[in-house]
Amino acid sequence: MEEQLLTAYLCFWLAVLGAVLGSFLDCAASRWAAGDPHPFRGRSRCGSCGHTLGARDLVPVFSFLLRRGRCRWCGEAIPARCLVSELAGAAAFLCLGLRFGLSLELGQWFAFAALLLALSLTDWAARILPDKLLLLLAANRAVWFFVLGHGVREGLEAAKAFA
Ligand SMILES: [Zn+2]
Repeated sequence: MEEQLLTAYLCFWLAVLGAVLGSFLDCAASRWAAGDPHPFRGRSRCGSCGHTLGARDLVPVFSFLLRRGRCRWCGEAIPARCLVSELAGAAAFLCLGLRFGLSLELGQWFAFAALLLALSLTDWAARILPDKLLLLLAANRAVWFFVLGHGVREGLEAAKAFA
């Protein structure tokens, strides 16, 4: 019973972590698609009215549902992509946590999932798969091959597969 409670507790926090990451990546992808030279800087704002969003506007999934997908300040619809990115991040981290447990290998797949989510969101926002993200994907795979104890040749072959 205790083990099941611990698993449920960890699953909850993995889903929260994934949702927060999904929200962050969606925000960065949207800013990047809009031509913002610093997509990781600055506080979150409403895409319609520009109002700075507070903590209660930024709780992944719940803020969207409580506000029925509308901005608290101007009432404009929040893009569905925001909710989808949060749910996708939560589902990815939850599934990976259940599959790999708390292990070093889990770190590899978290990074992999985050990069794939970032690629999906930039594709959705601007129909572009940035080369930098593709290179990061290859580098991530190669680095984790070494970290997880695989050989040099296998690491290079894995990186080539993504290049
Ligand atoms: Zn607004």
